[in-house]
Amino acid sequence: MSERVKIILKSGKDQSPRRYHPWIFSGAIKKIIGYPLEGDIVDVFDNKDNLLANGHYQPGSIAVRILSFNGTEPDTGFFRKRIKRALDYRASTGLTGDQSTNVYRLVHAEGDNLPGLIIDFYNGVAVMQMHSVGMYRLRNEFAQILKELLGERITAIYDKSETTIPHMSGVAGVNEFLYGSSGPVIVSENGFKFRIDFTAGQKTGFFIDQRDNRRLLGEFTAGRNVLNMFGYTGGFSVYAMKNASLVDTVDSSAYATDLAAENIRLNFGDDGRHRSIQADAFDFLNDINDKYDLIILDPPAFAKHNNVLANALQGYKRLNIKAIEQIKPGGIIFTFSCSQVVTRENFRKSVFAAAANTGRNVKILYQMSQPPDHPVNIYHPESEYLKGLVLYVE
Ligand code: SAH
Repeated sequence: MSERVKIILKSGKDQSPRRYHPWIFSGAIKKIIGYPLEGDIVDVFDNKDNLLANGHYQPGSIAVRILSFNGTEPDTGFFRKRIKRALDYRASTGLTGDQSTNVYRLVHAEGDNLPGLIIDFYNGVAVMQMHSVGMYRLRNEFAQILKELLGERITAIYDKSETTIPHMSGVAGVNEFLYGSSGPVIVSENGFKFRIDFTAGQKTGFFIDQRDNRRLLGEFTAGRNVLNMFGYTGGFSVYAMKNASLVDTVDSSAYATDLAAENIRLNFGDDGRHRSIQADAFDFLNDINDKYDLIILDPPAFAKHNNVLANALQGYKRLNIKAIEQIKPGGIIFTFSCSQVVTRENFRKSVFAAAANTGRNVKILYQMSQPPDHPVNIYHPESEYLKGLVLYVE
């Protein structure tokens, strides 16, 4: 028998792991036999002593992040296999062979059956971000596995877990190179260039998940006046600059507006059609009148927890009202939510309520999601976090 800590579930609470959902919530636990430390591997049993799974323990609402449902030992070989599977999957979607794109997500946590582990690839630099102490403890093993699997395709590996692993259980995440080193890199996405400073900025440095939606945007920008609200690195702005009449990138952070300006310069030189504007979204949207006929709304997650869901939905509604109200007739709105707790249905309802509030005639042209390198695990609906709508406002 295993000497590991045993987590015994309450009667009926085995349904979720039997359906391969990768989280055990603390409320489902009847008894813990032993004293697990954060990040320890524990075994999960139903209340009749049948082994269901193993995974990383953490105190808090999500008590176990499941690694294996079939009793496989989560050793180095296990993780090598899972990471290799993630790389093979990306190759099979055509992503890694695409010459015009060298920035993508290599490992997407639960979406790749590796809960708590994110690895992004920036033209040779792998940036890892751990979201659980269990995964954080394994960071050097992951670096070794990446070196083995990617060989010369990799020049540096950076661990960016300072903010995601705050001082817990005596473990404190740091930002450091685990292999090689590199300054900011220039990456290519669908042929457009971006300068990525992965050591600074949000997430691992770039919102890779909007790649397909940025490409879709490019089909609507010809001759339009574009407002990219919450612009950050100017991802949408760069695509729009290909053929728009003017592009305004707005962000409340000066760091972001500088980055956006730099990325425009990298692709188009000094081009008077683009302006970077530092402003608060709600202030800026107060009186844009009908200056724009294409507006992108890609706000930060308004809700990080279920208890603030109602406020978040109100936030999406207010934001979308301002855009729908003022956009030029025949205008297009790309509107997004990246909050994990906001379902696709709830987001649609917020935008519907916003449209109804303005009384304008609004059509949905496209429903957007996240790209294949951010796969949705079908057993973990929470992995589908990015939702967007392309609206046509008559
Ligand atoms: N669209 C971007 C990602 C947006 S991230 C892309 O494709 O890369 C969200 C951005 O919103 C951040 O850059 C943040 O600085 C900005 N932000 C947050 N609150 C804001 C506010 N109230 N007004 C304007 N910008 C805001």
